[in-house]
Amino acid sequence: MTAETPTALSAWRNAQHQFDIAADRLQLDPGVRAVLREPARELTVHFPVQMDDGSVRLFTGYRVQHNLGRGPAKGGIRYHPDVTLDEVKALAMWMTWKCAVVGIPYGGGKGGVAVDPKRLSRKELERLTRRFTTELSVLIGPERDIPAPDVNTNAQVMAWMMDTYSMHAGYTVPGVVTGKPIALGGSEGRNEATARGAVFTIVEAAARLGMPLAGARAVVQGFGNAGSVAAKLLVEEGARVIAVSDSGGGVHAPDGLDVPALIRWKAEHGELAGFPGAQAITNAELLTLECEVLVPAALENQITEGNAAQVRARLVAEAANGPTTPEADRILAERGVILIPDILCNAGGVTVSYFEWVQDLNRDHWSEAEVNAKLKEIMVRSFGEVWGMHERAGCDLRTAAYLVAVERVAKATEMRGLYP
Ligand code: NAD
Repeated sequence: MTAETPTALSAWRNAQHQFDIAADRLQLDPGVRAVLREPARELTVHFPVQMDDGSVRLFTGYRVQHNLGRGPAKGGIRYHPDVTLDEVKALAMWMTWKCAVVGIPYGGGKGGVAVDPKRLSRKELERLTRRFTTELSVLIGPERDIPAPDVNTNAQVMAWMMDTYSMHAGYTVPGVVTGKPIALGGSEGRNEATARGAVFTIVEAAARLGMPLAGARAVVQGFGNAGSVAAKLLVEEGARVIAVSDSGGGVHAPDGLDVPALIRWKAEHGELAGFPGAQAITNAELLTLECEVLVPAALENQITEGNAAQVRARLVAEAANGPTTPEADRILAERGVILIPDILCNAGGVTVSYFEWVQDLNRDHWSEAEVNAKLKEIMVRSFGEVWGMHERAGCDLRTAAYLVAVERVAKATEMRGLYP
């Protein structure tokens, strides 16, 4: 089997294709390759939730554990109407490589519910979360599988998950989820960790490209946990954030946006549209703006065969998971656009989740300065290892990150051996 370019916009096919490229180059043992190419476990649940008006609605949710070779499964829970098993499988596989590329002792997992949480009341969201957690109790646990926030889930959702699991256990189990509120054993710095880690990799890449970040134009797609904090931190690095967007569209100001004011605006109005002093821009236009740094921080399949030739960024930093399709990867590489792949770029989130879990298991609490310093050390080291592989193997950074990660997971798989 060799890597053929996929044709459909299936996140799972893209994930397998990316794996195949690395497996080909590593000449992986066929048995190990077959194991790593599929998830170890896939759970689909259909579960009822009582709505505020007394009616009962059935929801569908998933939890996938792609690989458990290097430790318990780790990965977020997504609430979005477009969640499918295909998507969750891809996200779980990416988590396996992400944890390996930064060298933290986890396998990959992911979960999600097909729901638009914006259409639920707070009480409905809580009931959905608690029932979904109960459905997942056959898989999750601090030694087995540790969920975290992802798109449309946050510290409050994690608090409900932790409480539900703890009620069943009969005692408080903070280590069952990460991304919790600080008061419940959450880690300092977790909320900003994904974006902070991404910006560490941008700083490292810019230095190697001889591209100063001071005055550089940055464009950010998605203005949630990953995107809004990335925009804020890029400004702190001296960059000019000229455009950002959310699901309702974007705003553009060639001289630079006031990012803290934009964060307040979004909190007050629930959307970016209408922000004073900026022009409206569509998500499609935003991706093709001329800039030094483009940060996709929304969903999968945003940079595709259809628009990759129009991307005018020098550096693309994938804060989101799977924003670039394999065809787009090829086009960007041919055009000399440097891309920091998701499994490296956004690994700061799971790294600080790991710190949170370690603190929970040890009943410890680290300062934000300590968390950020440890995060920086891991991100800078991991970036250096991937960059070194990129130079040695003469390949793009995604392939290099996969070579580093897949080799580590394959080694662990071989050393554990085949049971029985
Ligand atoms: P979030 O729910 O906080 O924010 C998502 C943002 O994307 C929102 O602003 C939403 O409006 C926007 N969005 C949705 N569809 C869009 C579209 N079509 N065009 C433009 N914007 C759109 O989610 P998040 O946690 O910031 O996650 C964003 C991405 O980062 C996802 O790919 C996620 O898997 C990835 N990620 C998140 C974490 C984490 O710790 N939260 C860690 C690693 C990776």
